[in-house]
Amino acid sequence: MKAEIIAVGTEILLGEIVNTNATYLSQVLTELGFDLYHQQVVGDNEARLLSSIDEASSRADLVVLCGGLGPTEDDLTKQTVAKYVDSELMYDEVALKHVTDYFVYSDRPMTENNKQQALTIKGATTIQNPAGLACGLLIEKEKTHFLLLPGPPREMKKMVEVGVLSLLSQLLPNKTKLVSRYLRFMGIGESLLVTELSELIEAQTNPTIAPYAKSNEVMLRIAAKCEKESEGYALLDSIEEKIKVKVGEYFYGYGENLTIEETVISLLSEKNKTLAIIETTTGGLCQSRLSKVVDSAKVFAGGRVLYSDEAICSYLETEDKRVYTEETTRLLAQKIKEEMKTTYGLCVMVVDESHATSYFPKGTILLSLVVGDKTYFDKMIINRDFEYVKDGAVKHSLNYLRK
Ligand code: ATP
Ligand code: MG
Repeated sequence: MKAEIIAVGTEILLGEIVNTNATYLSQVLTELGFDLYHQQVVGDNEARLLSSIDEASSRADLVVLCGGLGPTEDDLTKQTVAKYVDSELMYDEVALKHVTDYFVYSDRPMTENNKQQALTIKGATTIQNPAGLACGLLIEKEKTHFLLLPGPPREMKKMVEVGVLSLLSQLLPNKTKLVSRYLRFMGIGESLLVTELSELIEAQTNPTIAPYAKSNEVMLRIAAKCEKESEGYALLDSIEEKIKVKVGEYFYGYGENLTIEETVISLLSEKNKTLAIIETTTGGLCQSRLSKVVDSAKVFAGGRVLYSDEAICSYLETEDKRVYTEETTRLLAQKIKEEMKTTYGLCVMVVDESHATSYFPKGTILLSLVVGDKTYFDKMIINRDFEYVKDGAVKHSLNYLRK
């Protein structure tokens, strides 16, 4: 079954707001098992909206319109869809009571146009709004279903969760489901990862493999269509195994929103180990990210940010001003571990313009990890803008702890 989203609103068209509703709805519809081939944005204009609806109906079984259900002049989605399906607007009693009660409760006068938010289309299934006033609706014309949702993202999402998901899954004939999983990789670029997986990617039908390049890391979304979820997960397990044979050494965890800092904190917690960090040009970024992880204080002791060369020299009690060296990185990691009495001491330095040499050019990340009486050192160069390099320094140095 094909679905198409139409976001209605001139402000989206002109780029004044980001079309986050479409992003959310695409994910929900795909997860449910709809195929999405097109998406539209149209301004608050009846003729153009009619033409968008007409175009969408010619190629989709479900047309989801969001926005324009409100009480103002420019909100014309319901009227336009009513016209298109050759029906008329009428009040939904439950929605009207909801609107009236809202104004009574908040002791504010209800205007005539507020009542419009309780309008539905004759023949439609009304969907009540659990987070706002305008009701949504689902109506069918000649085998095409039209789903109307409010524009404000909070209202739209709540309505989808509470009232829409079950309605939509009833539309799907064979109850096809889509299950998916996100795999995250660090230390390998997108092009190399795709090259390593080229055979699997070329052969893919079900499950599918989609790579996403993220900042200094790569995410793979594997997705399987299935009738039963257990079948889908078995397909995902099997493709994941094949992926890991090729690039398993770079894999660090699951989840669309997982971070390397969360991964490292749980790893340290499992092993009952503690960590101290010392950083320079990253200005505390590494420690700040760790501190955002829930319960990180159990394993992350803290550390230091030494920004000026003088501060670094004075901390190490040295006169030698060449601070961006392998030797300094090692010494700093050792000293912070000693000072904080932790299992690990990690030092992260990024060579900026003012410290660049022919040996360590701008964008070189120097990192050192101390554990027990062993000190490890690694370096890499990222030739991008400095913000990106700093993000890379944080991620790569934390990733170093997994090794
Ligand atoms: P209202 O009753 O608030 O008028 P509505 O259903 O008429 O709701 P719109 O007027 O189209 O919705 O949009 C209201 C607000 O919701 C917009 O100003 C914008 O902040 C947000 N919004 C609308 N559409 C989108 C979208 N596609 N993505 C993200 N935000 C949106
Ligand atoms: Mg509106």
